[in-house]
Amino acid sequence: MTYERKRVLVTGGAGFVGSHLCERLLADGCDVLCADNFYTGVKENIAHLLDNPYFELMRHDVTWPLYVEVDEIYNLACPASPIHYQRDPVQTTKTSVHGAINMLGLAKRVKAKIFQASTSEVYGDPEVHPQTEDYRGCVNPIGPRACYDEGKRCAETLFFDYWRQHKLRIRVARIFNTYGPRMHPNDGRVVSNFIVQALEGRPITIYGDGSQTRSFCYIDDLVEGFVRLMNAPDEVTGPVNLGNPVEMTVKSLAETVVAMIGSKSEIIFHPLPTDDPLQRQPNIGLAREKLGWEPKVPLAAGLEKTIAYFRAKLGS
Ligand code: NAD
Ligand code: UDP
Repeated sequence: MTYERKRVLVTGGAGFVGSHLCERLLADGCDVLCADNFYTGVKENIAHLLDNPYFELMRHDVTWPLYVEVDEIYNLACPASPIHYQRDPVQTTKTSVHGAINMLGLAKRVKAKIFQASTSEVYGDPEVHPQTEDYRGCVNPIGPRACYDEGKRCAETLFFDYWRQHKLRIRVARIFNTYGPRMHPNDGRVVSNFIVQALEGRPITIYGDGSQTRSFCYIDDLVEGFVRLMNAPDEVTGPVNLGNPVEMTVKSLAETVVAMIGSKSEIIFHPLPTDDPLQRQPNIGLAREKLGWEPKVPLAAGLEKTIAYFRAKLGS
């Protein structure tokens, strides 16, 4: 008997990005299995999906093998913010590397297509600007960010070896800084930190002098990119950069957030963390060409929705 709904596994599905992806896949008519160990994700992110008969939640740690029958796998499981991934760095590397091995093994056994949520961190503190996919990066292999950066780099290696050796159908996305509702209020990432600080009238903490740059992508744009990449022809393996090319300094992000909220918060400066990249901007030429994808949501519109989310959350 053939089953008309695509069965899709989302690891890390209770996290910020994963919960939006599960929502989108359900809207597209997929049968979604969300596997998460709730290390940084929370049930609240997917509580509204639990009544949907095509949504299934499973507590599972990807460092252990998983035996399920699925057609597609999105492998997102991994803490993503610096304070979360540095809390237990050994576990972070295990999650990326053992997690990739287990999910690739599953994909091989059930002949599923598999997507890896990689990261702009594979470029480290980049000397090439904006970053193109052929740039090999400048990563410190023994610094405090290495558990995440090198874990993700090794996961990419595994994906491409399974592709070469076992002809697996792979998709690798290198995700640049993404923001939106359901970011964890205490994950220490810059957008959530600034918004929560401004809403609570506490000082806005800029690390360094704020001249370092990032490029911020709204979550809906990112998820659209994921789905397009997964549905692209098999020769489009990636890696493909997914991010918003509009680059800004951290200082100007702070000023924008304060102005949008009308906050009285003062801006204060803390030391720049070790190995904090000075600049980051995706070149999305490949995503434009192969996926017909580019971000649509301007920063002000995305921040407005994110601020509304945190305002409601803090209010409750
Ligand atoms: P998040 O922390 O909100 O989500 C990660 C999810 O993975 C959480 O639900 C967490 O509980 C789960 N998880 C962690 N370890 C696990 C394990 N061993 N087994 C099962 N589940 C586990 O982070 P996010 O921002 O939603 O990131 C999702 C993915 O996207 C990550 O792989 C991250 O590296 C990647 N990414 C995100 C960004 C971004 O800006 N948000 C940028 C680059 C890459
Ligand atoms: N940052 C900051 N203040 C904060 C949190 C972060 O100035 O309260 C800076 C951080 O040092 C980095 C940038 O904002 O230069 C983005 O940090 P984030 O942790 O969001 O992402 P990543 O460094 O992984 O790009």
